[in-house]
Amino acid sequence: MGEETSKIMFRTERYVLTAIFLLSLMKDSGVRAENIIRVDAMVGYEDTALELAFKETMNKAQQSLLYGNKNLKIEDFFSRVNLEDSYEVSGEVCKVISFGSEVIFGTHSRSSSEYVTSLCNQLSIPNLQIHWDSREVVTSTKRPDRDHMTLNLYPDHHTLSAAQRDLIKFWDWKKFAVLYEDNDGLIRLQSILKLSFKGRVAITTRKINFLNPESVKNVLKDLKNTEHQRIIVDCHYDRVHDILKEAAETEALSEYFHYHFMTLDLGVTDISEFSEYGANITALRLVNPEHGAVKNLTEEWKQLQFNIRGNRSPLRKGQLQIPTETALMHDAVWVLTEAALALNEANPTALASYSRASCDKAAPWEFGADLLGYMKSVNVDGLSGTIQFGQYGQRENFELEVVKFSHEFKKVQKIGTWNSLSFLNITDDNESLSQLNKTLKVLTVLEMPYAGKKIDEYGNVKYEGFCIDILDYIAESMKFKYEIQEEPTYGNCDEKECTGMYQKLIDREADLAVAGITITSAREKFVDFTKPFWNLGITILFRKPKAKPVRLFSFLDPFHEDVWVYMIAIYLCVSFMFFVIARLTPYEWCNPYPCNQEEDIVENQFSVLNSMWLTIGSILQQGCELAPRTVSTRMVAGVWWFFTLIIISSYTANLAAFLTAGRMQSPIESAEDLSKQTDIKYGTLQTGSTYSFFQNSIFPIYQRMFTFMKNQNPPVFVKNSNEGEKRVLQGDYAYFAESTTVEYKVERNCDLTQIGNWLNSVGYGIALPKGSPYKDKISQRILYLQDKQVIKQLYSKWWTKMYINQTCDNEKKDPSNALSIQNLGGVFVVLVGGIGVSIVIAVFEFIYYAWTKRDIPDPICTQLKDELIFALRCWGSSSKPADHVIRASKSDLSRTGVSLPSLNHEYANAIRDIHA
Ligand code: ASP
Repeated sequence: MGEETSKIMFRTERYVLTAIFLLSLMKDSGVRAENIIRVDAMVGYEDTALELAFKETMNKAQQSLLYGNKNLKIEDFFSRVNLEDSYEVSGEVCKVISFGSEVIFGTHSRSSSEYVTSLCNQLSIPNLQIHWDSREVVTSTKRPDRDHMTLNLYPDHHTLSAAQRDLIKFWDWKKFAVLYEDNDGLIRLQSILKLSFKGRVAITTRKINFLNPESVKNVLKDLKNTEHQRIIVDCHYDRVHDILKEAAETEALSEYFHYHFMTLDLGVTDISEFSEYGANITALRLVNPEHGAVKNLTEEWKQLQFNIRGNRSPLRKGQLQIPTETALMHDAVWVLTEAALALNEANPTALASYSRASCDKAAPWEFGADLLGYMKSVNVDGLSGTIQFGQYGQRENFELEVVKFSHEFKKVQKIGTWNSLSFLNITDDNESLSQLNKTLKVLTVLEMPYAGKKIDEYGNVKYEGFCIDILDYIAESMKFKYEIQEEPTYGNCDEKECTGMYQKLIDREADLAVAGITITSAREKFVDFTKPFWNLGITILFRKPKAKPVRLFSFLDPFHEDVWVYMIAIYLCVSFMFFVIARLTPYEWCNPYPCNQEEDIVENQFSVLNSMWLTIGSILQQGCELAPRTVSTRMVAGVWWFFTLIIISSYTANLAAFLTAGRMQSPIESAEDLSKQTDIKYGTLQTGSTYSFFQNSIFPIYQRMFTFMKNQNPPVFVKNSNEGEKRVLQGDYAYFAESTTVEYKVERNCDLTQIGNWLNSVGYGIALPKGSPYKDKISQRILYLQDKQVIKQLYSKWWTKMYINQTCDNEKKDPSNALSIQNLGGVFVVLVGGIGVSIVIAVFEFIYYAWTKRDIPDPICTQLKDELIFALRCWGSSSKPADHVIRASKSDLSRTGVSLPSLNHEYANAIRDIHA
């Protein structure tokens, strides 16, 4: 039995030895029983996850080849090496190549990877890499050889860096800090750091040991004190949690902070405990954990954590999703499998023998380049998306996802994508504020119509107004609650500091300031503003001029008093000159009875009274029967008529204007008018943008006005617009305010008016602390409300509908501007007065006439009464017995022989006939 057994053992031993001998012979001769490809992975001592991922995936690949009945087998080996030791790595690589390795999965250590790459190049062994590589991808034909046997599934650092830079540009960060750990970090941040070259972006860089919590905390404190709220962190994903923890402890994790991590593995570690802090936490990622294949594999690997070989799962405990490098290891195995299959199909002899490559002989593998060619042309859908390689072995056409930690779902979520063709596309960054479960603190100034306070019958305080309505719309759509804090004034900012609401925003005592807040550049240096929701400009609130009392003699208004005086004087002068010239010229002396040529008396028609009659006749555009006969008098008459033509035309033209439009004229029409006088004082709000406008104006006129305002005592600056309105109503005060305020006041008080045009053009916006996460979202809502004309409706609600007790008709009462009797009363008075005066003169004429007669039989009064009765007998004839006059006139007529101006012509002729 013992002999039998030893015989069998001996025989078996011989078979085994023969088999080994044959195998070694086959190996030496490069012949294999089936087509096999040998793959060797170089992994570090700590890279257990990668090693396991390599093995697990290889298993699957082998099974699939087996079940697929493909005449191909993959032999996988891995070597644990000290990746930092190039000597060890090179020795190991040479060893595995001498064993017939046909593909190397390279290392991520910079020193050893250089060596592996060049060795693979030399020996034509495809080198698959899955790590971030700091070296430039050779994309020029000048040095095509350097990496020509290397394929890297990790996106090249230039492309990644460009994607990160695009993101920062999209967010429009002008000031941020960059924290990094080592030189590789600096290379990754290269493109971002270049943003500061143009000088418009301020970047603070800090090298930091992320393993030291104290130094992390100190740096974060420092950044907080220097108002850095945007921080880019280049660290391993293992450190993310700890950094956020330090940030929370330093109170640098509120919603005003934004942490952007350079790692592609933000979601790998659990950071859900920071959901209540509100900070924006973002990153890019290559592997989408929601993708079907990734999800399944994650589940599978999670299961592995629970089975008996718990420590054999490529997913470490606590990891929520597959890290990028692990996923790339998985993808690399499949790329290799696909390529090997393709090569095997195309050239079955290629993998039938072992590679004869050797470090010693520097002999390359003849099919290495072919296999690499197939790898480059595969189109595998891996965990990291579609895998395609460019000409130089770099990953191409991949897509990165922009991810953000969702406070609502307590996990990292996709908010956009980046790819090298269409660049950045942020699709959804609208996490509603209700998810933060935060009540925003809103500052406001109680000034209607922007914001007002109302207490209802139950004693509840309610805020209302134009800005409050806008805030309500925004709060509703963004789903946040707010509480209002009242502020006494708007406050302001100068070069160095701010006061009032702005200081509170800087101190983060409030989240928003909503009121009639003007966007100014000085304020924008310290706080952020949303897009403007209303446009306006500075204008003047003034008291309407009181209507001029209607004057009886307003027909005199067209000419200044001086003109009237000059006119009377010139009238008298010209009349007298006429009289003199007429007497001087012999041609104005004529025979009064032309039928009697022997008459030796000549008569001049231009007595003083006649001269005056002629001139007054022409000035009143009537003319008279007197006509100048000679050149000199006609000359005088001519120039006088010319004079009267111009004077009367000017008077007529002015009269209409004076009696209609000129009735209510304001003493000032513009800011310039105000600046030219000192009687009417003017002022602004004592703190606010209107004050700053004058204070900082470069126009001399506004500078002068500001100096005037500053030097007034009592002060002309007011605490609020109601005080401004009160002072305007008291008179002799003009209030510079924004057109919106002025329109509101004018609409409600008929004694007020707006004077002049806008002095500037500005907009109202909502103010927020610098870097506020709500800015863009609120701006979006404002634009939406503007598009829907909601803000316009609110404006008309608060300006023209709410709280209006009276409507001011202004000038609308008398659209025709017809003149009333008050305007023209004076003309009637002159007429009546003139008639009265003429009656008195007639009486005096009668008395004088009668008194100069010595032969009057009756007393003068009796005669006057008789003549009056006779005159008033309207129905009587226009002739009368001569004795009425004869008794008084015979002798008179015989004596004078001149015309009687007070008697009519026929009457005079009759007298003359009687006399003859
Ligand atoms: N709206 C102004 C401000 O923001 C107030 C004013 O000066 O009229 O300061």
